[in-house]
Amino acid sequence: MVSEAMRQLGATGNPMRVLFEYGKKRAAVVGAENVLDLALGNPSVPPPPQVNDVIREVLSGPMADSVHGYTSAVGDLDVRSRIAISLNRRFSAGCRAEDLFLTCGAAPALCACFKGLACPGDRFMVITPYFTEYRIFIQGAGAEVVEVPADRRTFLLDIDAVEAALDPSVKGVVINSPNNPSGVVYPRENLEALANLLRRKSAEYGAPIYLISDEPYREIVYDGVEVPWVPSVYENTLVCYSYSKAISLPGERIGYVLVPPAMEDHDAVFQAVAGAGRCTGHINAPSLFQQVAAACDGMVSDLTSYTVNRNRLYDSLTAMGFECVKPDGTFYLLMKSPEPDAAAFSRRAMELDLLFPDTSSFSCPGFVRIAYCVPVERVEKAIPRFARLAELYGLKARTA
Ligand code: PLP
Repeated sequence: MVSEAMRQLGATGNPMRVLFEYGKKRAAVVGAENVLDLALGNPSVPPPPQVNDVIREVLSGPMADSVHGYTSAVGDLDVRSRIAISLNRRFSAGCRAEDLFLTCGAAPALCACFKGLACPGDRFMVITPYFTEYRIFIQGAGAEVVEVPADRRTFLLDIDAVEAALDPSVKGVVINSPNNPSGVVYPRENLEALANLLRRKSAEYGAPIYLISDEPYREIVYDGVEVPWVPSVYENTLVCYSYSKAISLPGERIGYVLVPPAMEDHDAVFQAVAGAGRCTGHINAPSLFQQVAAACDGMVSDLTSYTVNRNRLYDSLTAMGFECVKPDGTFYLLMKSPEPDAAAFSRRAMELDLLFPDTSSFSCPGFVRIAYCVPVERVEKAIPRFARLAELYGLKARTA
């Protein structure tokens, strides 16, 4: 006998991975070059050269024998100090080594926050559309999910909708900017409005409402858009960061939770987060990649191909008559399905060997997500297939 809930989770996998596996099977039949997979958020550009330089240096230097050993559970002290210095330089964050808990990426960072904060009966608010795994992480921490839609025109935070859904059981609000899947970046005024609301409601309820800021795409932005430093806008913010996307290290598993010094009950929150990590088998983040994080914090891979793809897709798809949200960041584009059943639209695209998921699993029915962290040639090949779809749906091409 096994846990039925866990068995089901293991048996299903998320829709992007299901498409990814399908793409691999299909490639064996029609050739990999003919399957245009735009499903998975797997960075296609190499890490900045400094990543491999640091690895080489560490492996040939005085630390070579010790670098594969255990570190402190919360992360090596020197590494945490260097990341804190980088954050202070870039964001005037005023943070210290002891505010950082190094994790195996953003996913376990989020899990540690939910589990560390959740008391019986607590709920966490998520803004739809949201990264599919939040629900699993929150429920896994024994808490419940409250879904609140983003403004369906701008995909920014709808402060009135957040207010309407707040009550004393809401322990925290999860935000993700730059956002997966919409690509929007919340501007400072939008975050300030949320902060003012949370401060007012925290005072009314006599307990802090935490903001959990999930930021794996922080450095992936276009046209110089500002990504505000969220703890400077709202003091009770836990930052979950990952080096997976910005420096293209998703398989190496490295990130952190930052519990900023101004956080109410700072020490208790930090200990609860670290304790929650321990409870889910965290020993320490990979020690070699802690060194990489220390040396490369704030760097970003070459974004040229993402930028080219983003412009090409947005311009072409809107010209074909598709409705798209213009991404300010990430490497995703959210597009309205031309038929109410977005899963059916995604299946139609599959028939053309064009793979992208519908966003019902992001709690955003009626849309699809196109991941353009792929070589520019793949996007070029995809354009005529999108044009074919536009034709099939009788969309009206827009004239410039
Ligand atoms: N949060 C968001 C919004 C994501 O899109 C992802 C991965 O795609 C994660 C968290 C998890 O990232 P990591 O690889 O750091 O665990």
